[in-house]
Amino acid sequence: MSEHTTSTGTLRSVAVFCGSNFGVSEAYAEAARTLGTLMAQQGITLVYGGTNKGLMGVVADAVLDAGGEAIGIINQRLHDRGHLHPRLVRHEVQPHMRARKARMAELADAFIALPGGLGTLEELFEVATLTQLGDHSKACAALNTRGFYEPMRQMLAQAATEGFLKPEHRDMVLIDSDPATLLEGLRQWQAPTVSKWIGQPGS
Ligand code: AMP
Repeated sequence: MSEHTTSTGTLRSVAVFCGSNFGVSEAYAEAARTLGTLMAQQGITLVYGGTNKGLMGVVADAVLDAGGEAIGIINQRLHDRGHLHPRLVRHEVQPHMRARKARMAELADAFIALPGGLGTLEELFEVATLTQLGDHSKACAALNTRGFYEPMRQMLAQAATEGFLKPEHRDMVLIDSDPATLLEGLRQWQAPTVSKWIGQPGS
């Protein structure tokens, strides 16, 4: 099986990207709690940014409260500023954000982005880009609480319509409002078998 055709299969660990703020609605924290609880119940280890800020703290607390495992990957600067979640049994301190993202991607079988800001969106697009390029072959998903990711769905459709993105890559990011559906989708996911190039040679 080539790198591009690997499916996630068994899901042992999922990196969760999410807002370091709470958002305007309690629905965001509720969805984060539901996801964290489900991950623990399904024996899926949480890999995440390692702090107790915003939705990040909510998802980590839900995993820990349900008896699951959470691994925090934090950067030195945030660690030194006292951002580390105090309940974590396992954490790693990386020199900077880029090293931290690389380590999270290494440890995770797949990725879920909850609603969030710049950090969350950047993390999601980076792991999707790495799959598109074949640098890794891992599923990624967005939890669509309150339709938060509808504009991203439209943006990806626009990129495909305008000839910058193949339909296979437009559709490879799973978007759903139900955490259980997303986890099952990550298990079933198959990587696209096409290259990213449109109308030009390249592998
Ligand atoms: P944002 O969506 O801008 O709030 O950023 C959240 C995402 O970026 C998380 O998934 C983290 O991985 C990372 N991040 C941003 N701020 C922090 C922080 N204070 N502590 C740890 N990670 C953070």
